[in-house]
Amino acid sequence: MISEETFNYLLYAWIATAIIIFPVLLRITVPYGRHTTNTWGPTINNRLGWILMELPVILVFSWFLFSNGQRLSNAVLVIYSLFMLHYLNRVFVFPFRLRTNGKRMPITIVVFGIFFNLANGFFNGYWLSKYSSTYDNTWFSDPRFIIGIIIFFAGMFINIKSDNKLLSLRKGGKKGYYIPKGGLFNYISSPNLFGEIIEWTGWAVLSWCLPTFSFALWTFANLVPRAIDHHRWYKRRFDDYPKNRKAVFPGLL
Ligand code: NDP
Repeated sequence: MISEETFNYLLYAWIATAIIIFPVLLRITVPYGRHTTNTWGPTINNRLGWILMELPVILVFSWFLFSNGQRLSNAVLVIYSLFMLHYLNRVFVFPFRLRTNGKRMPITIVVFGIFFNLANGFFNGYWLSKYSSTYDNTWFSDPRFIIGIIIFFAGMFINIKSDNKLLSLRKGGKKGYYIPKGGLFNYISSPNLFGEIIEWTGWAVLSWCLPTFSFALWTFANLVPRAIDHHRWYKRRFDDYPKNRKAVFPGLL
């Protein structure tokens, strides 16, 4: 396997890439969901795209964490389980709840998504397997763990509740797009993306290490530009879109 020094260099490069990519993503609209186009090359079924994109992180994270037979502490197993709680929903439940009527997404997006998830799974699984000896049972009473897990579940709640709300807008065979209302939708256009950012920030706090922080940073870099694109799209699409609604952070942006 690789040395700790090499691992750290790779991780710093990964973090630097997120910082570089953020302003790029602010300038382009990534074409899936409502922004989908075929100008990014061949496309595949949206549902299949989601599964192919997200499945690798479950496999790679688990492989690097468990394959060297190391005894893992309870704290590491909890950190891993919280991650999997989110991704089991994202891979095996969320795609089957989409009411997207055979919508497609560019294969390029799926390839980027797979690459991202391979890297994220590697950094977190490898680090938690090899360098996590400082987590013992006292970690459960550490303020970082307690505050982090509250933030994590608050984010997860917001994310799932908001995704549910959006999916319910097409209940009863309806098609197209509607203005979502109620709860955090009264303040921001994308509470689901806001919730996801909060969730992974909480995960980084409760585990307090660079690889989990890198994932929170990447989530921010991916989802803030996407939420801004969604917000602009809503304003173009609906003349009566609420004027005081922000994109992703209530009262701020
Ligand atoms: P969106 O909000 O664009 O869409 C979610 C679902 O709701 C889609 O099926 C969409 O349909 C539908 N929908 C959205 N708005 C409306 C509306 N106004 N009227 C009717 N239906 C609507 O979410 P994303 O696709 O951007 O993300 C989905 C999930 O994946 C989120 O929970 C997000 O946090 C997560 N995600 C996480 C990432 C990460 O880096 N961690 C990266 C990307 C996503 P349609 O597809 O037809 O637009």
